[in-house]
Amino acid sequence: MLRFIWISVFIVAFGISGISQKLQKNVFNYLNLDYPGLEKVKKYNQNGDYEKAAKELLIYYKKRSSVKHPDIDLNNIKISKKEQKWADDGLKHVFFVHKGYQPSFFYGNDINWRYWPVKDNELRWQLHRQKWFVPMGKAYKISGDEKYAKEWVYQFSDWIKKNPLLNDKEKKEASKEDVENMRFAWRALEVSDRVQNQTMEFALFINSKWFTTEFLTEFLLNYYTQCNYLIQHYSKQGNHLLFEAQRLVYAGTFFPEFKDAKKWRESGIEILNNQINIQVYPDGSQFELDPHYHLVSINIFCKAYRMSQINGLNKEFPQSYFNTIEKMITFYSNICFPDYTNPCFSDAKLGEPKNEIKNYHQWKKIFPDNLFIKKLASKGKKGKYPDYLCKGFTNSGFFIFRNSWEKDAIQMDVKAGPKAFWHCQPDNGTFELWYNGKNLFPDAGAFVYGGDSAVWAQRNWFRQTRVHNTLTLNDKNIVNTNSQTKVWKPDEKTPLLVTENQSYKDLKHKRSIFFVEHKFFVILDQAIGNQQGNVCVNYHFAPGKVNYNKNNLSVTTNYDGNSNVFVKCASQSSLNMKEYETWCSTKYKKRKKRSSVSFCIDKKNNNLVNFVTIIYPYDNTNNLPETKILINKSSFSEDKSTINISVDGKIYKFNN
Ligand code: MG
Repeated sequence: MLRFIWISVFIVAFGISGISQKLQKNVFNYLNLDYPGLEKVKKYNQNGDYEKAAKELLIYYKKRSSVKHPDIDLNNIKISKKEQKWADDGLKHVFFVHKGYQPSFFYGNDINWRYWPVKDNELRWQLHRQKWFVPMGKAYKISGDEKYAKEWVYQFSDWIKKNPLLNDKEKKEASKEDVENMRFAWRALEVSDRVQNQTMEFALFINSKWFTTEFLTEFLLNYYTQCNYLIQHYSKQGNHLLFEAQRLVYAGTFFPEFKDAKKWRESGIEILNNQINIQVYPDGSQFELDPHYHLVSINIFCKAYRMSQINGLNKEFPQSYFNTIEKMITFYSNICFPDYTNPCFSDAKLGEPKNEIKNYHQWKKIFPDNLFIKKLASKGKKGKYPDYLCKGFTNSGFFIFRNSWEKDAIQMDVKAGPKAFWHCQPDNGTFELWYNGKNLFPDAGAFVYGGDSAVWAQRNWFRQTRVHNTLTLNDKNIVNTNSQTKVWKPDEKTPLLVTENQSYKDLKHKRSIFFVEHKFFVILDQAIGNQQGNVCVNYHFAPGKVNYNKNNLSVTTNYDGNSNVFVKCASQSSLNMKEYETWCSTKYKKRKKRSSVSFCIDKKNNNLVNFVTIIYPYDNTNNLPETKILINKSSFSEDKSTINISVDGKIYKFNN
């Protein structure tokens, strides 16, 4: 008997796994106890019987069926192999934090939430997103094995204990390490991530025996603390602000029992309604000019709407909100290639086609009458492609040349837009070119975000202007990224884009791209201004074998399959061809070597410098014609140039 009492005392004092758990009676101050169903909780709370009040609260939540969650179906939980691994690794404190850092790191038997094995900010920030918690919940729900719930409760409480929220006064008295830790654990974006995931964790674990009344009060108090912090610490702008607002919509909708629930929801909806007008150009592009964050933004707007709709709270979204989302989807559907992959401009990573198709299925639910969405959701079986082929998005400076919507299409995406923010790169005038199932000029991508100087050096390498398909002076980054569209003729027999960027203080890059009879491209690059030095146009090929021909100033790719490209450059000035290797990255911390070429002119005076480049995609060598750039028959000026080329003896003449 005595022994039993001692064990009981131990459990009350220290709870499970050595974590002290006590009833947080404060939580009742933050709940609206007049909420339907909380009558008994209110009564016990009024009488000061907090334990009974908490017990009734737990009973209420276990029975609650009035609130629906759009992202999980508790009757049909599925777990992927990856998620199962994250859940099982999580049990051993091997935490899945970031795709770019695999295998995952071990965070200690006594968890060290400050462990920072590689000084990449993302690795430390994203630890606090606790990405293995929802997988643990799914593993628990499917297997019924309480070890997942026990460990989740332990880690959840451990995190709260070791990552306290410090107010300004406490920060002044805290150690440098504690203050630094707050910068990571309590960054608004991470808080919002937890606020979203914890709705699912709550639904998945609520019926576990480890989800005690004490833990419930701790969970809810922590939830309130996070939402209350978030609403006062929104990011200033960009996709972070969108994420935070959408997740407060989640919080306020999923936990309507909080006194502030309505405030959270309304604040989130108000921000989304405002920001959709600020962050989205009239042409439908999100203003960070990054295809990945563009997609993320669409899904943020849709998620906030779906959470509200499923719970009957969707009236706050005006029609204009949906019109803008639809334009954003049209934009995205245009810039993606026929195999559903996206261009990797700016910090974009390559999406997986099967996930991209899932997006179209989600979007179809909101826009059932949109035939373009239907077409892409059904992999071409239903719906309809747009009537146009080439399409310009003139506010954001994305221009798409294409000769078909099908897999054998030629599609060039050009990026030549206005100033943008952190995720955008100094790459104006660059392009990706897709043909017959292959991206022939994939963007360098991003590789990493920020961190210590070594991580920043890697990031800066991939951002460089010279590793993009555009013009540089002395290999330096361009100093202005603000292109002006001079001509955009998408519907001609030979569609034409003329765009200008004041790339350097006194050197303007004028790029004219001709999509010659929808078969191949001729690019005229002109460097206009007084600055002198080594002016180059740079081209970076897909990984694989390429053949350089220095005499002919040309490059022919030699890839397996039926998608190759021939590139040849000419100028009135003396041209120097440089062959070298660079990198391209489609995933975080993953990169591949690839071949590159630069055609360079030593600009020694104030005169105009001109490069004419043919870019000819072809399916096999038999179909590669003989092309000549008839430079002597061409004429060049700042305003108007005329170019003559011959293809298998046929003369093409065009001007900008
Ligand atoms: Mg780039």
